[in-house]
Amino acid sequence: MATKNELAEKLLYQPKNGYDRLSAAEEQAMNAYCEDYKAFLDRGKTERLCVEYCVELAEKRGFKPYAAGMPLKAGDKVYCNNRGKGIMLAVIGTESLAHGANIGAAHTDSPRLDLKPRALYEDAEMAYFKTHHYGGIRKYQWVTVPLALHGVVMRADGSAVTVHIGEEAGEPQFIINDLLPHLGREQGKKPLNEAIPSESLNVLIGSRPIADEDVKNRFKLGVMQLLNEKYGITEEDFISAELEVVPAGKCSDVGFDRSFISGYGHDDRVCAYAELAGIFDAEHPKKTAVCIFADKEEIGSEGVSGMQSEAFEWFMGDLCKGQGVDLRDCFAHSFCVSADVTAAYDPNFADVYDKKNAAFINYGVGLCKYTGSGGKGGASDASAEVVGKLRKLLNDNGVFWQMAELGKTDAGGGGTVAKYMAQRNIDTIDAGVPVLSMHAPRETVAKLDCYMTYKMMKVVFEQA
Ligand code: MN
Ligand code: MN
Repeated sequence: MATKNELAEKLLYQPKNGYDRLSAAEEQAMNAYCEDYKAFLDRGKTERLCVEYCVELAEKRGFKPYAAGMPLKAGDKVYCNNRGKGIMLAVIGTESLAHGANIGAAHTDSPRLDLKPRALYEDAEMAYFKTHHYGGIRKYQWVTVPLALHGVVMRADGSAVTVHIGEEAGEPQFIINDLLPHLGREQGKKPLNEAIPSESLNVLIGSRPIADEDVKNRFKLGVMQLLNEKYGITEEDFISAELEVVPAGKCSDVGFDRSFISGYGHDDRVCAYAELAGIFDAEHPKKTAVCIFADKEEIGSEGVSGMQSEAFEWFMGDLCKGQGVDLRDCFAHSFCVSADVTAAYDPNFADVYDKKNAAFINYGVGLCKYTGSGGKGGASDASAEVVGKLRKLLNDNGVFWQMAELGKTDAGGGGTVAKYMAQRNIDTIDAGVPVLSMHAPRETVAKLDCYMTYKMMKVVFEQA
C-alpha cells in the first residue's frame, strides 16, 4: 500500500522551484542564453530597433527577405519586415500548410513616452519636449530617470534621418524633473496616479540660448540649431517624426547570485527573443514555424503594424498560395502561443494576488489560460484541450512551467494579442515570463523563467 507521501506525490499538484530541478548543464545553457538575450534587450530599445536587430540575426542564420511568389521548399527560411516596426519569420515545414502552422506571437513595443508632433518649447529659459505617453505607464516612475531618445524623422524633402542619442558613454541624456520634497507637501497627499499628471512629463533638453538677446524663443532656437546641424531638421519636421523617449542605459544582472535581469522593455522583448531563439534552434520542424514580433500591443494591437492588421494574412496567405492551400484551412489547423509576459507574485504587494494561482519567480514559463479583467472580459480563454496540449508538450520535454493568473479577479487585469489570433480561428494560448515591476522603466525577470520560455518556444516550433 502506498504511504501517505507517495499518495500525495501521485495525486496532488506540488509545483517545485526550478532551481531544485535544474541540472548543472542546464544552468550553464541558461546563463549563456541569458547573455544573448541581454544583448538583444540592450540593442532593442524600441520596436524599430528590435526589428533591425532581428533582421541582422536572422540573415546570419540564413533567413531571406520574403518576396511575393518566391518558390519555397521545406527547410527554407524567410522573413517579412512589416514597415520596419513588426516582423514575421517562417521556417517552411515538411508538411503542407493545410495541416496548419506553429506560431509564436510576441510584441516588441513597450510602454514609453512619445514626442508630441509639436514637441519643442521653452519655459523659464529652459528648453523642453512635450510628450504623449504610449501604453500603460505609472507616471510617477518616469521622473528623475535618465532618458534616451530614439526614432526616425521624415524631413521636408522626403528623406529620413534616424535619431539615437543617450545610450552610449559620453552622450548626453535627458531627464524629467520632479518636485523637491521641501515643497512637496500638497503633492504628497495626492493619489499616486494623480501626483504626476501626464501633461507634466516634459523632457528637459537644454538651456543654452543663441547669442542674440533680441530674438524670441532663443532657448528653443538654441536647441533647434543643434538639431539642425546634427540631423538636418527644422521644427516642422517633428510633425512627420516618431521619436520615442525611453529609459537610457543597459540592462544588468540583479542579485548577489545574478539570478535576475533588470532592464527596460522585458515586456515583451523577453518573450520575443525566446521565440526568435526558439525558431533559430528548432530542428526540422514538420509544420511551418512562424515567429511574430508585433507592434502596438500596448495600445490595443491597433494599426497597420499591430496584431489586428491584415499584414499577417498577407504574409501567411502568400505562403499558403504558394502551396495551393486555402489560408482558412491553414488557420483552422494552426496552433499559436501568444508569448507575452505575466505578473510575477511580489510579496511586497501580496494583497493584489491570489497566491494559489499566481506565477512565481523561478517556477518556469507561466501559462495563462485567460487574461482579461472583470470576469475574463476581453480574454480569449484557451480551451481545456489547448491548455492540455501545451501542458503535455512541456511535461514530455522537461520544460518547467506553472499556471499564471494576472492578479486577483477584480484587482485589475490586462490583455495580449491572444484574442486577435483566436479570432482568426487559430487555437491560441498565452504563455510567457513572469515579470516584477511590469511597465516600469526597469522591469525584473528571473533568468530561469527566461530560459524556460525559450525552451517552450523551441519545442512548440518542433513538435506542436
Ligand atoms: Mn505584453
Ligand atoms: Mn504590457
